[in-house]
Amino acid sequence: MSRNLYIETFGCQMNERDSEIMAQLLGEESYLETAGPEEADCIVVNTCTIRGKAAQKAYSLLGSYKILKERNPELVIVVTGCVAQQDGAALLARMPHLDLVVGPQNIYRLPELVAAAREKAARATAVELSPAFTIPAFLPKLEGGVAHKRFVTIMQGCNNFCTYCVVPHTRGREVSRRPEDILAEVSHLADHGVREITLLGQNVNSYGLDRPETARVTFPALLRQVAEIERLSRVRFTTSHPKDLSPELIRTLAEIDKLCPHFHLPVQSGSDLVLARMNRKYTRGDYLEKVAALRQSCPEIAITTDIIVGFPGESEADFEQTMELLELVRYDSAFSFKYSDRPLAAAADFADKVPEEHKSARLARLQARQEEISSEILQTLIGQTVEVMVEGRSKAAGGQWSGRTPENRIVNFPAPEELQPGQLLRVKLEETCRHSLRGVIAWSQPKLTARRHQGQETILQLR
Ligand code: SF4
Repeated sequence: MSRNLYIETFGCQMNERDSEIMAQLLGEESYLETAGPEEADCIVVNTCTIRGKAAQKAYSLLGSYKILKERNPELVIVVTGCVAQQDGAALLARMPHLDLVVGPQNIYRLPELVAAAREKAARATAVELSPAFTIPAFLPKLEGGVAHKRFVTIMQGCNNFCTYCVVPHTRGREVSRRPEDILAEVSHLADHGVREITLLGQNVNSYGLDRPETARVTFPALLRQVAEIERLSRVRFTTSHPKDLSPELIRTLAEIDKLCPHFHLPVQSGSDLVLARMNRKYTRGDYLEKVAALRQSCPEIAITTDIIVGFPGESEADFEQTMELLELVRYDSAFSFKYSDRPLAAAADFADKVPEEHKSARLARLQARQEEISSEILQTLIGQTVEVMVEGRSKAAGGQWSGRTPENRIVNFPAPEELQPGQLLRVKLEETCRHSLRGVIAWSQPKLTARRHQGQETILQLR
């Protein structure tokens, strides 16, 4: 007998990937995904606590499910993700209609935990973080229309303890997945029509360092092996800690065509004082040197970042240094946020909190300037012909086709009906929109790609 499963996911791509894994594991126990919570026999809320707002949304959604439990006492409600890990048994005490609280390392036990909750009506938590944890071998089940791009987790957890962040507390220390499992998953995806993969981890640059030296494959070596998988067209990765960005990774990025020239390099602040209080372990000067090395080796690279404004103790002078950094780096885009206290994170106990109105004013100023820079960069691309991987039709662009360049820029263009997601085209760029570009198809196959070589001009070659 099949049962209905409803999953609500908050937060990052790691959570999205975990939700897919949970859907597959419960699918093997005859739980079929349904569109809404009302008809579900099991509801999973996969939570995020990276910012106060995301956690608050999850609490309020969980509260709203009380009425469903009253209507159907057999309904099993599960909380997973970082809020689950952070609050543990306190969540069960606070919300008596919840059945299970399961931390990120324990999601592979979900079928057994849900069955026990159903059969014995027992409420439970599974939030242990084990130093011996290994990521189980796991191949995604692919049926029906398979998306042309997918995420592949290569590691979990983080060792860095940035003082504003809960991840090391909620996801535990870094655990790298076995390279053979990663390669098996990517090959499996490529065999089923996936053309672009993004390797995921909290700090992919330190991939492999937790494994014994004899069995160690570094992140650049892993990238080279993944890029050799024939049917793949593009490989991306996220996220990178600037302190671990090595010359070897920069060289690898420049040498391998399939590695997209887009680097997300979170800076968080332009002030050395704030960076030290954040425990980021690099200075503004170190960061700028890495940006320069990336650009020297791969001149067309798009660089994006994350910035926190209003970290405790951030003065106007500190903030001005962040504004100055925007001018020096000229990011393609930036995710920027106001600092908020996160339980368990060290900065929650820091004094000298920045008043809310100062944080809001700083954020507005920073975002306005970044919008201008992003738009100026898009303007410089008009007239170029670029490679675009088709994604689908865009509602925002009035039903035109939409795709992404290797640098991850969105391009909309008119085209005949028969385009397929994952197809590669050349598009001539004609105008900019707010966060995207518009163009016309220049030609399709054979694909032209720009080879990138350190210190050499960009040349075009047939592939
Ligand atoms: S590197 Fe810092 S911000 Fe990123 S997950 Fe680790 S602790 Fe959090």
